[in-house]
Amino acid sequence: MLRDFFLGFVKIHVLHHAAQEPVYGLALIDELRRHGYELGPGTLYPLLHGLEAAGYLAREDRVVGGKVRKYYAITEAGRLALAEARLKIAELVDEVLEDQGPSTPLAPPADVEEAGIG
Ligand SMILES: [Zn+2]
Repeated sequence: MLRDFFLGFVKIHVLHHAAQEPVYGLALIDELRRHGYELGPGTLYPLLHGLEAAGYLAREDRVVGGKVRKYYAITEAGRLALAEARLKIAELVDEVLEDQGPSTPLAPPADVEEAGIG
């Protein structure tokens, strides 16, 4: 179940970055690791394909160093979905973090932190 929550966060995270510039798998894996999500290609690539199938991302092949690299750019539908998700996130953060004082540490408990989803 926790994995389901995190996969939702990851999808929004991917859309957020794709809205800034086209993204590709390995760079996203590094970026997500920086945020505490351990994802392997076996999790990330199907997720990217799912966002593409939903019409939120558009794939664009580019040749980098003699190899084809698959970049994903956000589509107009993806931007709309991201805008809607932002509203829901703000609402959720407002409610879920409401009772937490400013002194509450932001780091999750160790058992949650260790929950890799890759
Ligand atoms: Zn990020």
